[in-house]
Amino acid sequence: MTYDDTIGRLPTPCYYYNLELLDATLKNVAEESSRYPGFHLHYAVKANANPVLLKRISSFGLGADCVSGNEVLRALECGFPAGKIVYAGVGKNDREIETALANDIFCFNSESLPEVEVINNIAGRMHKTARVALRVNPNVDANTHHYITTGIEENKFGIYLYDLERVIGAVQKLSHIELIGLHFHIGSQITDMNVFRSLCLKVNEIQEKLRRQGITFPHINFGGGLGIDYDRPYGEPIADFKSYFETFARFYEAPPLQQIHFEPGRAIVAHCGDLIAKVLYVKEGKKKKFVVLDAGMNDLLRPALYQAFHKIENIASDKPEEKYDVVGPICESSDCFGKDVLLNSVSRGDTIVIHSTGAYGEVMASQYNLRELPGTFYTG
Ligand SMILES: *Cc1c(COP(=O)(O)O)cnc(C)c1O
Repeated sequence: MTYDDTIGRLPTPCYYYNLELLDATLKNVAEESSRYPGFHLHYAVKANANPVLLKRISSFGLGADCVSGNEVLRALECGFPAGKIVYAGVGKNDREIETALANDIFCFNSESLPEVEVINNIAGRMHKTARVALRVNPNVDANTHHYITTGIEENKFGIYLYDLERVIGAVQKLSHIELIGLHFHIGSQITDMNVFRSLCLKVNEIQEKLRRQGITFPHINFGGGLGIDYDRPYGEPIADFKSYFETFARFYEAPPLQQIHFEPGRAIVAHCGDLIAKVLYVKEGKKKKFVVLDAGMNDLLRPALYQAFHKIENIASDKPEEKYDVVGPICESSDCFGKDVLLNSVSRGDTIVIHSTGAYGEVMASQYNLRELPGTFYTG
């Protein structure tokens, strides 16, 4: 991203969104997916639920992938048609299920039989039929440990493979549920296409096994997870959607007429946003220099939450580089954006850019320490 002179005058901390880059990204993802008939996109709203961005995203024809009732409502408000909204999450409460049913969303991605039973009951009460896809935990990484059935670490997501046929059988008996497909989402920030290839092969295997028992589905959903290059925000600002869709087209053996759904989040919005902060103080220790920003972990949680890396730049200085720990003002040691970061020599008042924070940035902001929420600014 390039910045004009106004950036130094913005009230900070604030998220700075490049809508031109967002449009270019959306144009690219729409084009690359449209090469393959039957591919459908649902933007994962949890990555960034800012209405300005959501309206742009819906205008390019994408659907929405939501993980709460409020996200469903936000998506509807921002122009996503109900018929393109999918709703995932391990724990949907009754009110959220009612909201989704009342608005006739396309599909619930459900992760357990008890939840499908509750959806069935609520749908019955509302005289509706709920479309459901079962989220499967395909255990893709554990492929090599095929014969080890104990001691496999199960995470809370999805229905386990050993249980899938039983759950399908039980769901098919529910009178207010239409079981339309399977759903997979194996993780996030995946840049190695071999991982998606493994997912395709695993899903081929699962579907073939089910087909032999006469079970076929009109829909399949591969979730999200495509990663971006956090190291080089100026390098490839648009994620590699071409290779991503190519991988599925090549390795996934879709039954005739099956519709194939994807839920990209991060790859759509991450590079389109930066967090802009100002330097409050430069503090010199014996061995280290600290840059204390006016932005903290309440504004951008990713580094504190999972030691995520974001490229940091001092755009106010062209003096020689020095090493700094870049920290926020919050009373937590984890309130640190980067250690031993090379920045052009820093002075109080300099404008600092924390790059590629458009995904899982603003949405996770809180008022911890009773701070203000970060502002927003748009360009392009
Ligand atoms: C988080 C999430 C996504 C989006 O993941 P990204 O890595 O941001 O693409 C998609 N689907 C589901 C079910 C999710 O939970």
